[in-house]
Amino acid sequence: MIFELVILGNSSATPTLHRSPSAQYLKMLDHHMLIDCGEGTQVQMQRYKIRKSKIKHIFISHVHADHMLGLPGLIFSMNLMQRTEPLHIYGPDALFKILDLFIELTDNHMRFEIIKHVTQTEVKEVIFEDDELKVSSFPLYHRVPTTGFLFEEKERLRKLNMEACEKYEVPVSSYADIKKGKDYVYNGTLIPNTTLTSEPGSPISYAYCSDTRFDERVAKNIKGVNLLYHEATFLHDKLARAIETKHTTAKEAGIIAGLAETQKLLIGHFSSRYDVVDELLVETRAEFAESYVAEEGSKFTLC
Ligand SMILES: [Zn+2]
Repeated sequence: MIFELVILGNSSATPTLHRSPSAQYLKMLDHHMLIDCGEGTQVQMQRYKIRKSKIKHIFISHVHADHMLGLPGLIFSMNLMQRTEPLHIYGPDALFKILDLFIELTDNHMRFEIIKHVTQTEVKEVIFEDDELKVSSFPLYHRVPTTGFLFEEKERLRKLNMEACEKYEVPVSSYADIKKGKDYVYNGTLIPNTTLTSEPGSPISYAYCSDTRFDERVAKNIKGVNLLYHEATFLHDKLARAIETKHTTAKEAGIIAGLAETQKLLIGHFSSRYDVVDELLVETRAEFAESYVAEEGSKFTLC
């Protein structure tokens, strides 16, 4: 599977008996990543069978406790487990001040390197890139400097037609070029690439937006994304509270999804005042039909 997202937590502010604070595990291509790391995330990882040792990249949206309090614990557990592989952490400047202080004052002898990537909270920028995947951060509009994250698969290579490749005796050493679109010459005859390959599927993308006040600029930065997670902390009757705390209502999350022209919306970061979140989903769906609750433990896939 090219894309697998597991919701580890979807609560805002304090953990409740039924909901954990924000955290998501994302496997995209060969990358194993965490997005936000609220209190108890490492316990949630155990519950949903996600190995800590696999995680190489952690993306933190902002330094409010419900999004990062689990990070020191996770790092210390990784250290106790004798990790030696570097860990890439992406987040605002304040995050690293907190982490540095934790590590220094707790006199922990770190066995692995933490590679810090400070996010710019005013502009959209690419923060990770390889041959297959690009990750960007982009501004959100919250009470402290905050970013969302956009994960984009790059243009896919063409799919080999193995039957045709065998028929024209294409050596394995030429596969990479043929996947990129090159033709092949067999006994002096040009075999067009379209005979040897088929169209690849479209690249996929995912955007994570938590926490933020409703803002159309968010939609502009993620336009056309396949799957969108957006916070929906309150019902719209609590709009005044949403404005005051710089959060989004369920209705507004649906509006953003429409503006972003996404295919599917997941809502989360629910206020602990809601024991059940059915009403929030109804409100979001009135604006954007393809909306779902990012239930803890649920898995979403794309291919
Ligand atoms: Zn926050």
